Amino acid sequence: MTATPLAAAAIAQLEAEGVDTVMGTVVNPAGITLAKMVPIRRTNTFADPGLGASPVWHVLAIDQNGIAFTEDAGVVGDQRVRIDLSALRIIGDGLAWAPAVFVEQDGTPVPACSRGTLCRIEAALAAADIEAVVGHEVEFMLVDADGARLPSTLWAPYGLAGLLEHEAFVRDVISTATAAGVAIEQFHPEYGANQFEISLAPLAPVAAADQLVATRIIIGRAARRHGMRVSLSPAPFAGNVGSGAHQHLSLITPEGPLFSDETGGCGMTAAGRSAVAGILRRLPEAQGILCGSIVSGLRMRPGNWAGAYVCWGTENREAAVRFIKAGPGGPHGGNVEVKVVDPSANPYFASAALLGLALDGISDQAALPPETTVDPAMLSDADRARAGTVLLPQAQAEAIAALDNSKVLREILGDPAVDMVVAVRRMEQDRYANLGPEQLADKFRMAWSL
Ligand code: GLU
Ligand code: MG
Repeated sequence: MTATPLAAAAIAQLEAEGVDTVMGTVVNPAGITLAKMVPIRRTNTFADPGLGASPVWHVLAIDQNGIAFTEDAGVVGDQRVRIDLSALRIIGDGLAWAPAVFVEQDGTPVPACSRGTLCRIEAALAAADIEAVVGHEVEFMLVDADGARLPSTLWAPYGLAGLLEHEAFVRDVISTATAAGVAIEQFHPEYGANQFEISLAPLAPVAAADQLVATRIIIGRAARRHGMRVSLSPAPFAGNVGSGAHQHLSLITPEGPLFSDETGGCGMTAAGRSAVAGILRRLPEAQGILCGSIVSGLRMRPGNWAGAYVCWGTENREAAVRFIKAGPGGPHGGNVEVKVVDPSANPYFASAALLGLALDGISDQAALPPETTVDPAMLSDADRARAGTVLLPQAQAEAIAALDNSKVLREILGDPAVDMVVAVRRMEQDRYANLGPEQLADKFRMAWSL
């Protein structure tokens, strides 16, 4: 893997646009964003050969000091973090940013690298003649500089009041994102007090995850400019609604899109149905990747619109997979929204797992269970059992064990990636399983903040 360096003229152009510093980021298996900055003259070195990073970067935990050492991630050895120059963006105030991958010192890919893993899955889909498109949603809560609740005197769920209370921040984010080429589709207040959501335009999987990381950086910096911070915890405050990181997936073959089919009745092609079936049948195993942190269980409850029931339904916000039919109301065509994903997940691994499972379902023509057309909580146990609808566990230990034992996810993501996710999540269990909901939410409210 060699990067094409930026020509002196391109560097000069960046400088002319006011850039003096370049930042590169990676997201680790605990969902933590790690970074290095260089003066602009070091840009090409950051891209190739890259900058040194210890293998323990993969297993840095969410509690500001834990390191979940594994066989592959110990104190010996050094890897390289390389920015992808083709994805470099100017994000304002003299800073440019690019996503990075991990490589060994000789340039070979590091198997546990999440961006590298998603590149591999994108290539596997392309080899099967399938183009994937992913649209991310970013839910977050504004808090004060100490991570405490902000007043919500003027607030209504989805209300104009909150948007106007935080108009300076919201418009700062929109203009910074626009200048950075981050395509915000909409920005709106959510249900929880001071909770907001940004929907991002769909892109190819790796580019979409990169755009999500750029958005998190942009909202984190903008919040600071307005004296606030952003909580990206799945459960910022115990006993309240959580924040999701829903992913919308579309799959397109040369014959057409798999989730926009007017002929079959349910709106999906046969391959589209198998793709959804492939995701649903392994959702309990994928939970550790998609929403596996120690606080994720506080959100994963019926009634939270988090998709706690493993089922699918057209426009069903309580189903783990909400199907959005093609039609005049949706310019992007039919797609499936996987609601269970939360912001503690590594978004590259989450997309890789979902797309890998979809491909797995397509390859063995998995059968889609019947649609759930009502709130699954309203069904009797017998009805849910008949439809194969299980409730995802709130207990992190169960999700970790299911992932650790998942042959399919190990095939999709590779053993090193799964082992590292299991290691960081198990350390959360070992250290904090005895904390109650309030203590957990308070302790990790800012763990994923930028
Ligand atoms: N905040 C909800 C969640 O935790 C989602 C609300 C919505 O459907 O937008 O996923
Ligand atoms: Mg939402």
